[in-house]
Amino acid sequence: MPKSNRSAGSVRSARDAENRLPEKDRNPTRVAVLLARPLSRTFDYRVDHPAPTGSYVSVPFGNRVETGVVWGPAAGEVQESLLRDVRRVSDLPPMNPRMRELIAWVASYSMAPLGSVLRMALPASGALAPPRTAAGFRLAEPRPKGAKLTPARQRVVDVLTGAGSALAGPVIQREARVSAATVRRMHGTGLLDAEPLTVTAAPHPGREGVRPELTASQRRAATEIVQKVRARDPRPVLLGGVTGSGKTEVYFEAVAACLASGRQVLVLLPEIALGPQWFARFQARFGTAPARWHSAVPAGERRSTWREVAGGTAPVVVGARSALFLPFPDLGLVVVDEEHDASYKQEDGVIYNARDMAVVRAAKERAAIVLASATPALETHVNAHEGRYHALTLPRRYGDAELPDVEAVDLRVSRPKAGSWLAKPVVDAAAAALARDEQVLLFLNRRGYAPLTVCRTCGGRIGCTSCSTWLVEHRRDGLLTCHHCGHRMPVPAVCPTCGVEDSLAACGPGVERIEEEVRRLFPGVEPVVMTSDTMRGPADLARLVQGMESGATRLLIGTQMAAKGHHFPNLTMVGVVDADLGLGGADLRAGERTYQLLTQVAGRAGREGRRGRVLMQTWEPEHPVMQAFLRGDGDAFRRMEAAARAEAKMPPFGRLVALILASRDQPVLERFCRALARVVPQHDGVDVFGPAPAPLSRIRSQYRVRFLVRGGRNQLLQTYVRTWLGSVRAPAGIRIKVDVDPYSFL
Ligand code: ADP
Ligand code: ZN
Repeated sequence: MPKSNRSAGSVRSARDAENRLPEKDRNPTRVAVLLARPLSRTFDYRVDHPAPTGSYVSVPFGNRVETGVVWGPAAGEVQESLLRDVRRVSDLPPMNPRMRELIAWVASYSMAPLGSVLRMALPASGALAPPRTAAGFRLAEPRPKGAKLTPARQRVVDVLTGAGSALAGPVIQREARVSAATVRRMHGTGLLDAEPLTVTAAPHPGREGVRPELTASQRRAATEIVQKVRARDPRPVLLGGVTGSGKTEVYFEAVAACLASGRQVLVLLPEIALGPQWFARFQARFGTAPARWHSAVPAGERRSTWREVAGGTAPVVVGARSALFLPFPDLGLVVVDEEHDASYKQEDGVIYNARDMAVVRAAKERAAIVLASATPALETHVNAHEGRYHALTLPRRYGDAELPDVEAVDLRVSRPKAGSWLAKPVVDAAAAALARDEQVLLFLNRRGYAPLTVCRTCGGRIGCTSCSTWLVEHRRDGLLTCHHCGHRMPVPAVCPTCGVEDSLAACGPGVERIEEEVRRLFPGVEPVVMTSDTMRGPADLARLVQGMESGATRLLIGTQMAAKGHHFPNLTMVGVVDADLGLGGADLRAGERTYQLLTQVAGRAGREGRRGRVLMQTWEPEHPVMQAFLRGDGDAFRRMEAAARAEAKMPPFGRLVALILASRDQPVLERFCRALARVVPQHDGVDVFGPAPAPLSRIRSQYRVRFLVRGGRNQLLQTYVRTWLGSVRAPAGIRIKVDVDPYSFL
């Protein structure tokens, strides 16, 4: 395992170009620098320190200082007198050629500027500077006699014992929930020793924690993956198996093997699965928590994590999709957990799928890669079926946990009363679970109180002023909200269309409305709502998990946020309020996504001991997706789905590129789209559909039109699209978004 640099006084000396060398020692060379800006070209600079290709540098650009990477020798067209000097060459090891290749590959594949992809691999400014030191403390040994331990002080002792090394003051305060004064006084009374620290990211795994005894099938899977880690075999492994079968335990074995070989590990998770439970589990297994990388991580921690990754001293990073572009110098294993999850697709800026790019990265790094999921994406499934990926499957849930009983509740038969949304069988099952002191999850993938506000007099609906969407009522805030642009307004007293007073009615349920119904049905049961509106940060999530684990929370109502990853042993009943939601629409993956989501939700029930029960409210129990789901027949579902996709030459049996054109000026946009349609290049096996107004035909006052390019499975459509777009010039004010392998069809 790489040594950590967090011990005392280990601030490394920076090779800092700002401390200029004496003139006689200067031997300037020219280098081409790629900047983290949306440009594909490089710029030449003069540098008088060794700055091999890949070096991280700060350079003047215009009147700012920008971060970049030496991309090669200078192109050499710039006059010496116009050349500017590199300001600083970072002390970090240069970005390796494999990472530079990955950046170039992703830029070309996703049709994004090279510099935009580089930007994803660089930290926010500041990380190139050498790390700062901070005041740290560790436990004094031996502990001074007679020192009193208040509960607060005990927490400090626990935190430092857990860390096994010194921690920065603010970290102690946060983790132990104590004031700066407490830490100071503990230092004053000799309980803590001061120790200067390099400001670093989270502590590193080091000591082995508790290693579970794997079952025979888990062991077989783990052995194969460990072999791939050792052999540096980048052929992807699809690790399948129902929820709760131990996939995480299996890939933990691979993590351990990779760490033992001294190479770095990257674990990707969907953002919402990066909760406290996962970290606690990792900690239990490896002794300490890994470095983390996602949107809620504070800037200072991100900077130091980035430095440690780039410097090779962070052995494990767990993060959301953007962690894929961290510049590990020696990556040995990539895990993409819940690999089917749509959140791996980044939809703006550089549009890419982190799962697919992880496979590319592993190939370049000669790192092993594991794609784990109970419900693999059809793409991944086909790759495994055709032998490109190596499929390993865990056959059943771990221990005596069984998969839950899943039943459909036919809403045509058990129709809820007007103004209620829960059918009698669901209410009864929830009541029974509560009576047994077990926990209940009611799932509805819809935020807010009601998706639609309709006037009873004129039938008018309240829409967004700048989008082609209906506003969603959030009664908790007393506001109507647009989920696309964030526009908010109070619920009006009179209908904006006909002016009649008290005529507006909430239509349909969101989670808040289910909450209202639960309060009516089960007085005394204090339901907790879990959505992106109520879970604003890690602290909210930690509180929720605590409530579920302690049993204080008896009934949870949640959107897809509640569907994933969590392990609540006493949760035995799941009610799905609207199992059909998501099946409508023209989305290529609607069926697949519904199947995956339902599987995930159902997988929350009965994960230990008592068997779970899942009731799905549906208007269409005979829908093939529902039928396959009820039978638990994933294979049948995938066969059906694959046949339909093959027939339509849709992915993974064909390729797609979507073009989304947007402008505030509708006539100009339409004219340009017609012009584009006229110059569609003719090419065997490539079809272009459109132009057609996007399903969301206006967002933030921008009109939106789509084209869809479809080609054969082995056809790279990028060149085709480049040629096509290169043949016309877009008028000012038109934005063109190119989405290779689109996931969203809105
Ligand atoms: P998955 O990732 O497939 O959903 P997990 O790895 O989360 O499954 O396992 C489900 C539960 O079973 C977890 O609480 C896990 O700790 C436990 N578990 C799985 N395998 C073992 C094992 N071999 N020994 C002890 N506990 C296990
Ligand atoms: Zn809007």
